[in-house]
Amino acid sequence: MDFSFSAEEEKFKQEVQELFISEEELSKAAKKEWNTGLGFGPNCWKILQKIGERGWLCPTWPKEYGGLGLSYMYRYIVVEQMHHFVDIYTTVGAGMAGPIILSHGTDEQKNKYLPPIARGEVEFVLGYTEPQAGSDLAALSIKAEDKGDYYLINGSKLFNTRAHYSQYHWLGARTAVIKPKYKGISLFIVDLKNTPGITISPIWSVGGTRTNEIFYDNVKIPKDSLVGEANRGFYYILEALDYERISTVAGLERDFKELVEYVKEKRKAGDPIIRQKLGGLAAEIESARLFALKVAWMLDNGRVPNYEAAMLKMKVAETEQNLVNTAMQIFGPYGQVQKGCRWAQFDGQFERFYRDSLENLITRGTSEIMRNIIAQRGLGMPRR
Ligand SMILES: Cc1cc2nc3c(=O)[nH]c(=O)nc-3n(C[C@H](O)[C@H](O)[C@H](O)COP(=O)(O)OP(=O)(O)OC[C@H]3O[C@@H](n4cnc5c(N)ncnc54)[C@H](O)[C@@H]3O)c2cc1C
Repeated sequence: MDFSFSAEEEKFKQEVQELFISEEELSKAAKKEWNTGLGFGPNCWKILQKIGERGWLCPTWPKEYGGLGLSYMYRYIVVEQMHHFVDIYTTVGAGMAGPIILSHGTDEQKNKYLPPIARGEVEFVLGYTEPQAGSDLAALSIKAEDKGDYYLINGSKLFNTRAHYSQYHWLGARTAVIKPKYKGISLFIVDLKNTPGITISPIWSVGGTRTNEIFYDNVKIPKDSLVGEANRGFYYILEALDYERISTVAGLERDFKELVEYVKEKRKAGDPIIRQKLGGLAAEIESARLFALKVAWMLDNGRVPNYEAAMLKMKVAETEQNLVNTAMQIFGPYGQVQKGCRWAQFDGQFERFYRDSLENLITRGTSEIMRNIIAQRGLGMPRR
C-alpha cells in the first residue's frame, strides 16, 4: 500500500503549482470573481484557458481531443491545485458532460465538443432539476418530441446554475411516457446562445450564488443533439452524476489551516473546547482527503466509484459544515458580520462560506440521497 504520489506525479504537481504561482494575480482575481457567486467572468475564463492550453483540464482524454492520455491521478492533481488556488475544482464540461460524450457520443459530437472543452473555451450547464423533479429525477417532465427532422422542446428547468455564462445545456428531457418513468428520458446538448425560444431567468441562493430557471417555448433542436441512444438518458445521467460527485478537499484544507493560524494568533489555542474541535476536524479532513484519493485510484483502475462517490460527496459536504460551524463558534457573534464591515472576520469569508456550505448539502444530490445510495448500492439494501 502506497499513499504517496509517484515521482512523475510529484513533478507534475509542482508544474501545476508553478503555473498558479506564476499567474498569482490572475489566480487571485479568478478566485475573487468566482466567490462573488456570479460564476465565470473574464478572469475565470482566462485561468481555465491557461490550464487548458497545457492539456491539463482533461489530462485523461486522448490527445486528439485535447487531453494528454494520462491516468486519472493526473486529473486529481490538477483539480486539487485548482481548488486550492482558485476555488473552482471542476467544470461541467471537463468533469461531467465531457466524459459521457467521450464514452457515448458520436464521432461528430466528440470532434465538435471535446477539444473546446479541453481548451477551457466552453462550459456546459447541468439541466436536470425541475420543480417536481429533484431527488426523484425520473419524474422530470420537460418534453422533447421527435418531429422527424428535429426535436421540439417545451417545459422548464429549475436551479440550472451555470446557464447565464455557459454555451451549452446538458438537457435531460422526456421522450416517452412509459413505466418505469426513467426509461422515457433522453439526454441532449442544446446551444444556449443560438437557439430561439429559450429564456434564462435568475434565482439567488442563500449562499449568494446565482442559479437559474430555464424556459423552453417551442424550441427546435437538431436531431444530432441527442447524446447516445434515445430513452437511455437516465443511465447516462447516473453515470455523469458519479463523476459529478467526485471532489477534493484542497479548499477545505486551505481554509482550515487559516483558521488554525487565526486561533494561534489570537491566543485562543489555550481553550480546551477549541482545541478539541480543531483536533477532530483535522482527522475528518484527512479522512475525506484519503477518500478523495481512493476514488481517484478506483477510476485509474477502471472501477466505477458509484457508492464510493456518494460517500465522498456526503463526507466532503458534511466536513465543510463542521468546519464552518466551528469557525462560527470560534468567532462568536462577529462570525455573522458580512464582508465589507470592519468587524468582519477574514473579510467575511467564513460568513459567506457558512451560507454556501448549506447549498453543498443539497446540490449534486442531498446527504439523505447519498445515504440511500450507500445503503442500496453499497450495502445491498432494498429501495423501499
Ligand atoms: C444552489 C443550487 C444549485 C443547483 N444547481 C443545479 C444545476 O446546475 N443543475 C441541476 O439540474 N440542478 C441543480 N440543483 C438542484 C439540486 O440538485 C436539487 O435541489 C437536489 O437534487 C434536491 O432536489 P429538490 O430541491 O427538488 O429537493 P427534494 O428532492 O424535494 O428534497 C426535499 C428534502 O427531502 C429529502 N428527500 C427527498 N427524497 C428522499 C428520499 N427518497 N429519502 C430521504 N430523503 C429524501 C431531501 O434530502 C431533502 O431534504 C441546484 C440546487 C441548488 C440549491
